[in-house]
Amino acid sequence: MLDILLPAIVLSGLGFILGLLINFVSKVFHVEEDPSIDEIVDLLPRYNCGACGHPGCKEMAIALLSKENKPADCKPIKKEQIPVIQEYLDNYFKNKKEQANQ
Ligand code: SF4
Repeated sequence: MLDILLPAIVLSGLGFILGLLINFVSKVFHVEEDPSIDEIVDLLPRYNCGACGHPGCKEMAIALLSKENKPADCKPIKKEQIPVIQEYLDNYFKNKKEQANQ
């Protein structure tokens, strides 16, 4: 009985300790991300198809925010969604410019 119980207890304890370690490290090395990235991802189709040349929609959102791409570069996007994303980007860049001028 102890032959089975002892490894189970040791592995459970090890898993618990490693879980605590992962939790601690993720809090210490947490990087604050621009919330606009997720907001643009929500406006994209979220197919993560890679047709835009990026590995996924999140990378495309980052490229849109850095003006490397335009919303129309997303191939499966609905035509009526392009002006919605463009308006979001225009407001984003306008706010960034105003913050820089203050
Ligand atoms: S083409 Fe559009 S849907 Fe496909 S990964 Fe790029 S942004 Fe996402």
